[in-house]
Amino acid sequence: MTAFDLMVIGGGPAGIFAAGFAALNGQKVLLLERNQRCGAKILITGKGRCNITNCDDDPRTFCERFGPQGKSLLTALYAFSVEDTREFFESRGLALERERGGRVFPARGNAADVQKVLDHFIAQTGVTLRKNCPVQGITFSEGLIHSVSTPQGQWEAKHFVIATGGLSYPQTGCRGDGYSWARQTGHDVVPPQPALVPVQVFEDWTAELSRFNLKNVRLSLLQNEQKLDERFGEAFFTHNGIGGPIVLDMSAAIRDALQQGPTFLSLDLKPAVAEELFDKRLQRELAAHSNRDFGNALGGLLPKDMIPLYLRLSGIMPTKKCHSVTRDERQILLKLFKALKLQVRAVGGFDKAIVTSGGVSLSDIDMRSMRSRKVTNLSFAGEMIDLAGPTGGYNLQLCWSTGYLAGVSAAG
Ligand SMILES: Cc1cc2nc3c(=O)[nH]c(=O)nc-3n(C[C@H](O)[C@H](O)[C@H](O)COP(=O)(O)OP(=O)(O)OC[C@H]3O[C@@H](n4cnc5c(N)ncnc54)[C@H](O)[C@@H]3O)c2cc1C
Repeated sequence: MTAFDLMVIGGGPAGIFAAGFAALNGQKVLLLERNQRCGAKILITGKGRCNITNCDDDPRTFCERFGPQGKSLLTALYAFSVEDTREFFESRGLALERERGGRVFPARGNAADVQKVLDHFIAQTGVTLRKNCPVQGITFSEGLIHSVSTPQGQWEAKHFVIATGGLSYPQTGCRGDGYSWARQTGHDVVPPQPALVPVQVFEDWTAELSRFNLKNVRLSLLQNEQKLDERFGEAFFTHNGIGGPIVLDMSAAIRDALQQGPTFLSLDLKPAVAEELFDKRLQRELAAHSNRDFGNALGGLLPKDMIPLYLRLSGIMPTKKCHSVTRDERQILLKLFKALKLQVRAVGGFDKAIVTSGGVSLSDIDMRSMRSRKVTNLSFAGEMIDLAGPTGGYNLQLCWSTGYLAGVSAAG
């Protein structure tokens, strides 16, 4: 059996970086990956475009996006910054493009290009890669990990990095194996939860609008007539609810609210215009079409394909003449634009979650090195630690930074 300096379990973004940078630092590295290719999840990131990082924030603000524990990410982010990420990919021939909100994508808009760069990186650095090689168990005694067992045999190493990801999208190979090894070796694991998930609603008409991208809308979370949260940005309807960045980012708060009781979302499709002004606009539209059927009057306010649904939801007869639309009817219409209400039925599970929140407790990890505080020859990296960021490239940057730091400090 060849003994390796370092064994990395899990060939996602975090594991690839840990393995590659450890090898560049002179380590003999073995990378074990369950799938037949590394980085399966990369292909589905950013709707197939892979939002690799976010370049809008200074490091402190970047870390704050991960919530109260976010500042613990600062050392990793200084060790491998957003700029380093851009440099890493650009210097390997992948042109990048900055989009709205600081989101950085491959210029060709193809996540497979990111996976290719990572494949080459692993090959160039001399990492020994075993694919189709799921780790089934670890041997742990006297406070140290000694080896792992796989269908391809038993492997030994001096140091181990666990980077097996979370539980989201299990078809990509992430089944939470790392959590059980973390527990087995005495680490506290904060219960994993699906995070950044679309929401299901009771209204059955959302499917009719699922083609529309709702840009620059405002979403409010309501319970007992109180506003609990509010986001501005992009959303879209799905066949059974609502998704998109602002919904995903609000999903943890929606889940919490739902546990307390009936929970509603209110969508403002025209947030730049105050309710009073929008009402005036409605009055003008109705006056301009005074003798026409109401069914023909909404063209100036809505995309053509949305009109039939709005007519239905308003309850106003399409054949009614605009001049006879009552004030109460106009108020209903106003609400459909400024406060379109949806009742939350459920928040999606791991199969729909972009990331997993929870994971190996940060109090059991020295975040200056990613080494375990409990087991001297073990480090953690990536989604499996108890940090989850919002949409926008933050979660992959967490992987690049913690993967790099884990690899380099394991080598050190
Ligand atoms: C649909 C979707 C879209 C996303 N879009 C973005 C985006 O645009 N930008 C962004 O920043 N983030 C995005 N994310 C989140 C991002 O993909 C993850 O945060 C990131 O992939 C986590 O990387 P990781 O290396 O920690 O784990 P993973 O990528 O989950 O990789 C873990 C690897 O470990 C392997 N593994 C697991 N168990 C074993 C075992 N027992 N033995 C051997 N190997 C094992 C798995 O096969 C897998 O390859 C998205 C996620 C999803 C699901």
